Amino acid sequence: MIDIKIIAERDRSTVLHPFTQLKEFATGKIGDPTIFVGGKGIRVEDAQGRSYIDGFAGLYCVNIGYGRTEVAEAIARQAYQLAYYHTYAAHTTEELATLSERLVRMAPGKPSKVFFGLSGSDANETQAKLVWYYNNLCGQPKKKKIISRERGYHGCSVISGSMTGMSFYHDHMDLPFPGILHTGTPHHYWGAESGETEESFSRRRAGELEELILREGPETIAAFIAEPVLGTGGITPPPTGYWREIQTVLKRYDVLLIADEVICGFGRTGANFGCTLYGIEPDLVTVAKGLTSGYVPLSGAIVGERVYAVMEEAADRVGAFSHGYTYSGHPIAAAAANAVLDIVEKERLSDRARIVGSHFQKRLKERFAQTEIVGEVRGVGLLGAIEFVADRQTKRRFDPQLKVGARISKAARDRGLIARAMPHGDILGFAPPLVVSEAEIDEIVDLAYRATRQVMDELAKGSVG
Ligand code: PMP
Repeated sequence: MIDIKIIAERDRSTVLHPFTQLKEFATGKIGDPTIFVGGKGIRVEDAQGRSYIDGFAGLYCVNIGYGRTEVAEAIARQAYQLAYYHTYAAHTTEELATLSERLVRMAPGKPSKVFFGLSGSDANETQAKLVWYYNNLCGQPKKKKIISRERGYHGCSVISGSMTGMSFYHDHMDLPFPGILHTGTPHHYWGAESGETEESFSRRRAGELEELILREGPETIAAFIAEPVLGTGGITPPPTGYWREIQTVLKRYDVLLIADEVICGFGRTGANFGCTLYGIEPDLVTVAKGLTSGYVPLSGAIVGERVYAVMEEAADRVGAFSHGYTYSGHPIAAAAANAVLDIVEKERLSDRARIVGSHFQKRLKERFAQTEIVGEVRGVGLLGAIEFVADRQTKRRFDPQLKVGARISKAARDRGLIARAMPHGDILGFAPPLVVSEAEIDEIVDLAYRATRQVMDELAKGSVG
């Protein structure tokens, strides 16, 4: 048995935790860190022996569920055989070459090559450099600006963090970087004008994108980056017609499209990729999370034919492609990804996410759509969100001091369900592993409902919690 107090103290005194209020953590106001020690299927267990349903698959990544020995064995096999070799200057491994071919075969758009990284953030950073490189090689040195969306999430390194359209990722860190611009969020519930249909709202958002391009000068706009389904910005499927309208504008001004499939890729939406579901034809595709189901870090910047052809053509003139990491194409990560993709294919997890996902969407709506404090229930496949508001008619938000979303998330956790309080309002988000069963979905929805009722009771009694 591990000594919980000692581990917690070691952690508190030395780990700089992401997205944590540092003083509240240092002084113990938000309690000790939870020490996770095990996981099987859709459940994880902490050091005190409490079991939780992980309704968020870690951070939307453990698609195949926890404790898959096939993946552990593939990792061990590669580690025993050859733990590391690099991919610089024409070196490779069997696992990497096999994985890369597999990705090029399955990815949306017209994929040609894969550049391997370690995180969604670094893959999007690579995408930005590829876009700049491409336009320099094409003799368009002014065409460099990249547009993303307010509430889009693309990571938190310098450029990917700038692409992320949330001010708290920029504040006090000198971001966004110049040349990264933002356009409106495709969220009908909050963004639509009175009586506006989803179609006309989508046209308006595409019109705003066009205005931004024209204002800046089309000769300066290089690329548009977006998630097929807005993820961390609130789990918001696109309104009807959105992707058709947006792509029409991008084509008109010769703007490259980067599809950030970090959450959607490998089945989450009920299709292999979000691009497939929404008819998106990207020039560049970013994958991470589900690629290894989080078992080890790995990401890919998938380069389409159009961009790659220019890079190869210019090589005699510009020399080597000078970008790469020590761990680009790490053989252990590649072995893990191959084992994960074997499971995704064998167990038809995209189909499963579509079928179990439609049960999930139905149960969420049945349970929550009429609840007094619920403004919107939304989702696709095995991505879902409930948005809480103080007044359904006027869409008045709760006083942020009440922390309604965070309290419901905590009440769910106290009942053994991990569901994430998302930024931008009071939102409870779900992204369970794709191996979740219909019975487990019922359990998740039931636990979330009971947590919601508990907080509604507290609100009715006027307790701030
Ligand atoms: N893109 C999207 C759509 C994401 O959801 C995330 C992570 N949540 C990232 C990029 C960044 O990935 P990472 O945290 O691995 O850097």
